[in-house]
Amino acid sequence: MQITNMSEFHKHIKRVIISEEELKTAIARTGEILSMEYKDKPLLLVSILKGAFIFMADLSRAITIPHEIGFMAAKSYFESTESSGEVEITLDLAQDISKYHVVIVEDIIDTGRTLKKVMEYLAGKKPLSLKVVTMLDKPDRRLVDLQSDYSLFTIPDYFVIGYGLDYGEYYRNLPCIAEFEEE
Ligand code: 5GP
Repeated sequence: MQITNMSEFHKHIKRVIISEEELKTAIARTGEILSMEYKDKPLLLVSILKGAFIFMADLSRAITIPHEIGFMAAKSYFESTESSGEVEITLDLAQDISKYHVVIVEDIIDTGRTLKKVMEYLAGKKPLSLKVVTMLDKPDRRLVDLQSDYSLFTIPDYFVIGYGLDYGEYYRNLPCIAEFEEE
């Protein structure tokens, strides 16, 4: 898919479900909570590319205590529209995480299969602690036993775009979360 004009771009945006303002408020509040919880502790935020890149940038700036950031990339294999649980780590962290309290910064938890695999992988590296913060949670779709420690918004089973989340690599630059409109 290639989108080269604005009418094609807008055609797939059904409606805004979380506004820019709501995201800003929730991220500021989460930043405050994490700043209190990890005060005087070595904190490493880990995000899984690419969907969480905007949330990561905003959450990091909302955290007022010293912390480091790291990026991973994982390729999830899909069976039609669902991840199969087969995950390949294609970019690993540079840090030795055994010296850090690690918080995974996720864009969205759907079936939970990808995150579960990444968590098992990171837990094997024995961080001081391991928690998850997700911008969006679709609990109705969950297929594995997994709960995030902090979840900013719970949404129904919509396919959403914006704020880092894509459809065919487009729409990551939308400042809000919108429901995707199929043709
Ligand atoms: P899971 O293994 O939890 O099923 O897959 C999670 C990944 O699928 C997310 O990190 C995200 O990349 C993708 N995903 C799941 N739901 C959505 C959605 O509604 N919109 C977009 N753009 N990606 C989604």
